[in-house]
Amino acid sequence: VTATLEALRRELPADAGVREPAAAELVDQTEPRGLRGRAEAVAEPRTTEAVAAVMRWCYEHDVPIVPRGGGTGYAGGAVPTEGGVVVSLARMTAIRAFDPLLWRIHAEAGVRTADLRRIARASGVWFPPDPGAAESSHIGGNIATNAGGPHAFKYGVTGAWVTGLEVVVPPGDVIRVGGAARKDVAGYDLRHLIVGSEGTLGIVTAAWLRLIPAPERSLPVIGLYPTVAAGCEAIQAAMASGIVPAAIEYLDGATMAYVSSTLPFRAPPGAFAVIVEADGSVAEAMAGREALEEALRPGAATVHAPLENDAIAALWRWRSGVSIAINAVRGSRVSEDIAVPVDRLAEAVTATLEIGARHGLEAMSWGHAGDGNLHSSFLVDAGDDAALALAERASDELFGVAIALGGTVSGEHGLGVLKNGQLRGQWPPRAVELHREVKRLFDPKGLLNPGTKLP
Ligand SMILES: Cc1cc2nc3c(=O)[nH]c(=O)nc-3n(C[C@H](O)[C@H](O)[C@H](O)COP(=O)(O)OP(=O)(O)OC[C@H]3O[C@@H](n4cnc5c(N)ncnc54)[C@H](O)[C@@H]3O)c2cc1C
Repeated sequence: VTATLEALRRELPADAGVREPAAAELVDQTEPRGLRGRAEAVAEPRTTEAVAAVMRWCYEHDVPIVPRGGGTGYAGGAVPTEGGVVVSLARMTAIRAFDPLLWRIHAEAGVRTADLRRIARASGVWFPPDPGAAESSHIGGNIATNAGGPHAFKYGVTGAWVTGLEVVVPPGDVIRVGGAARKDVAGYDLRHLIVGSEGTLGIVTAAWLRLIPAPERSLPVIGLYPTVAAGCEAIQAAMASGIVPAAIEYLDGATMAYVSSTLPFRAPPGAFAVIVEADGSVAEAMAGREALEEALRPGAATVHAPLENDAIAALWRWRSGVSIAINAVRGSRVSEDIAVPVDRLAEAVTATLEIGARHGLEAMSWGHAGDGNLHSSFLVDAGDDAALALAERASDELFGVAIALGGTVSGEHGLGVLKNGQLRGQWPPRAVELHREVKRLFDPKGLLNPGTKLP
C-alpha cells in the first residue's frame, strides 16, 4: 500500500472509492505494443463532487491524475505512464435525464456507449455515434477521444452530439458548459475544446447529448473489386450518387484475404471490399439502396445487397469482428488511424502496403472510407520485440505519408502517449504553441494526464 493510497483513504470521503490499482487498470489496447503504466492508487468516485475532491487532493500534493473510461483506447491515453492516481469513471453510470420526445439525454460519463444506445433505441430515438468497442467504451471516453465509427460519415463524430458538458478542471473546480439547449454561441467554444482533449484539460463527469428519431430502415450494399483503384473509384461513385450514404467502409484485399471466408456470402478471395448503407424511411432506404447499388456496380466483381434483417445484422457483425480477427492472425499488431482527404485514400492504402513490404512486415488496412480514415496495421508475432520496433518505425513513415497527403496522424484514436509529439509534424509552430498554451491555462502544473497529447 503506497503512502498516496493511505493518505487518500484517510483524507477523502468513502464515495471517492479509493483502492489499490488492478493490473487491468494500468493498460489499454496498446498493451501488445509494450505500454504498461504504474499507479499509486485508483479512485472510483460515485459523484462529481468526489471527482473534484480527488483532483483537489492530487493538485495540492503534486500527484498526476489519469482519467480512465472503458480502457478501449488505442493510443495509450488511459495508461498512467508517470504514476499517480487513476480516476476511473466506472461508477458514474446514472442517466440524469432522458427526454425522448425532446431528443435529448443527460448521462454520466461512465455509462457504456452501447447501453446509452440501447436506452435511446428502446424509446424510438437514436444516438448515432457507433465506435467499434461500444460494449466496453464509456460515453466519457468517447467524448474525451471524440470517437467516430462507421456512421460518423453521415452523422458526424461524438462531438457533434454533445450540447453540454460537466467537467472537473484543475485545481478541482466543477464547470458546466452548455446544457440541454441546442444552440449556444455566447463564448469561446470550451465545450469542443474539451471534446477530444483526451483527459488533458479536465475530467468529464456528465454530458447532455442530442438524439434523433431512429431511421426506420438501414440497408447495406457491399461491392467487391479486383484492385485498390477500382474500389476507391466506387467509393467516390457512392459519394456522387445523389444520396447521403449513412456509412462508407472499406477493407483492402490483404485484410479480406483473412476475413472473407467468414462473410455471410461467397466472395472472391482477396478482393477489395466497399460497404455502403442507405437509411431513412422504408421508401428512402429502398431508393437509396438502388442508387448505391448502381453506383457500386461499375468495376465490381460482385455486388451484394441483403434485404433480410438477419443477413444485414450478420454483415455488420462481421464488419465489427474484423479488428479482433486480424489481431488473432499473429497475436499482435501495430495499428494506426491516419486520415486523408477521400480523393487520396487509394494512395494511403497503397502506401501502407509499400511501407510494410519495405520493413518485411505483413501490412493491411481497412476503415471508414468516406471519412478517408484508415486503420493501417502491421502484423507482428506476440513477443517479437524486433518486429515490434520495425512496426513502430513503419508507423512513423505512415504518419509522414498522411501529412504529405494533406491528412492527419489521427482520425479517431487521438495522440495518447504513443503519438504525443506528432502534432509538430502536422501543424505550424505557432499553432502548436497555442495548443500548448491552452493546456497550460487549464492545467498550470501539468498534472492532468501527463505525457498524453503533448510530450
Ligand atoms: C475493437 C475496437 C474497435 C474500436 N473502434 C473504434 C471506432 O470505430 N472509432 C473510434 O473512434 N475508436 C474506436 N476504438 C477506440 C476506442 O474504443 C475509443 O477511443 C473510445 O472512445 C475510448 O473510450 P474508453 O471509454 O474506452 O476510453 P479510455 O480508453 O479509458 O480512455 C481514452 C482517453 O480518454 C480519456 N478519458 C476517458 N474517460 C474520460 C473522462 N470521463 N474525462 C476525461 N478524459 C477521459 C483517457 O484519459 C484517455 O486519454 C476501438 C477500440 C477497439 C478495442
